[in-house]
Amino acid sequence: MYNIPPQSGIAFFLHAGQRLAVSDPLGEQVADLVAFNRNDILEALSSRRTIDYASRIYLTTGRKLYSNRSNVMLRIVEDNIGRQDFLLTPCAVPLFRIIYDDPDPHPACSENLAAALGPYGVRADAIPTAFNCFMNVPIDGKAGSIRVLPPRSQAGDRIVFLAEMDLLIGLTACAAGQSSTFRFKPIHYAIDG
Ligand SMILES: [Zn+2]
Repeated sequence: MYNIPPQSGIAFFLHAGQRLAVSDPLGEQVADLVAFNRNDILEALSSRRTIDYASRIYLTTGRKLYSNRSNVMLRIVEDNIGRQDFLLTPCAVPLFRIIYDDPDPHPACSENLAAALGPYGVRADAIPTAFNCFMNVPIDGKAGSIRVLPPRSQAGDRIVFLAEMDLLIGLTACAAGQSSTFRFKPIHYAIDG
């Protein structure tokens, strides 16, 4: 089990056939997950293709997460919460200025992912929409408006992914207030297989 400290991010390799368990040790904390083909980082996780192929925005156990080239990168094999988000981009310093009206923002998931993935050749502009583990984004179907509510995850809850190709993963303990009930907590992850 590895620990991602609050408001930080990490990058690591995940081999085809390995399982990645992302857990929320204290509860109500989002983890942003991005993935790249380890052998060609221009192939990246694609929210748009995944939502298109699934014909739904809420993805849970059994669902496949596709790349921009329509290859399956990850499959969700366990999700005891049933509410994750794949619409919103990783939080960013400009977001804190725009949404939170924070004049002196701390580093955010976008910057943390860029720092972690940079040594592997991933440029900041190439970081895709993240699969936001535990993020709770209900939609008003009539108006199309969205809200970011506290995650439904309680202490110890987890989501497990199976890698369908050799991947480079970026993973954060989300630095946004709305994604941590403003109590910025760590994220744990484990790899097996
Ligand atoms: Zn974030």
